[in-house]
Amino acid sequence: MERIVENLAEVEERIARALARSRRHRSEITLIAVTKTFPASATLAAWQAGLRDFGENYVQEFETKSPLLGPLEDARFHLIGHLQSNKVNKAVPLFDCVQTVDSARLAGRLSQSRAGAGLPPLDVMLEVKLSDEESKHGCDPENLAALVEGVQPLPHLRLLGLMTIPPFFEDPERSRPYFARLRELAVKYELKALSMGMSNDFEAAIEEGATHIRLGTALFGRRTKPAG
Ligand SMILES: *Cc1c(COP(=O)(O)O)cnc(C)c1O
Repeated sequence: MERIVENLAEVEERIARALARSRRHRSEITLIAVTKTFPASATLAAWQAGLRDFGENYVQEFETKSPLLGPLEDARFHLIGHLQSNKVNKAVPLFDCVQTVDSARLAGRLSQSRAGAGLPPLDVMLEVKLSDEESKHGCDPENLAALVEGVQPLPHLRLLGLMTIPPFFEDPERSRPYFARLRELAVKYELKALSMGMSNDFEAAIEEGATHIRLGTALFGRRTKPAG
């Protein structure tokens, strides 16, 4: 608990410096606390420290933790890991935002499921794959126009913007071109939200226009358990 308070203060200072360098305001940034592998108590401590947006990678893991959290006023939960279509119905009542939509088919299923659950439209972002390596998920930039066109008319989804996960680099400056590329795409498709930047590169992401940064390690320390 003390650690999250201290870590958050440090993160906020780093955010403030990056914002000052780029002449942006704190209100433009949503800080998402990534709680994957950490127990529900970590989410509660982060909420008590003032955080309201939380990121989870696995539907199953959050399904287990969610009942332990109880009602957390103003909390918003973002799915930031890949969503398999057979988990859509489970994910829909658990999350306020799905950041990893990468096909029109998945979007269609989410919209239908959300309608069936009688819930208000689900916020979504489109995950864009900007590198050839590693990450198997995400829409190729060449297919983004079609995906945007496919998602925008869906009545039970609200398309906020784009999300990306660059390959991991020790040097955050190497993430910067990926962030700049995502911003170019958002401008092209007139989308506002840009979810980019993790513990090791969020300052560069803020300087490149991030509206949502996703921080795990910087807030909670190193993950020791495997995710899942
Ligand atoms: C785990 C994860 C994060 C947080 O990573 P840290 O480096 O611990 O800040 C952010 N985004 C996604 C998609 C993740 O899977």
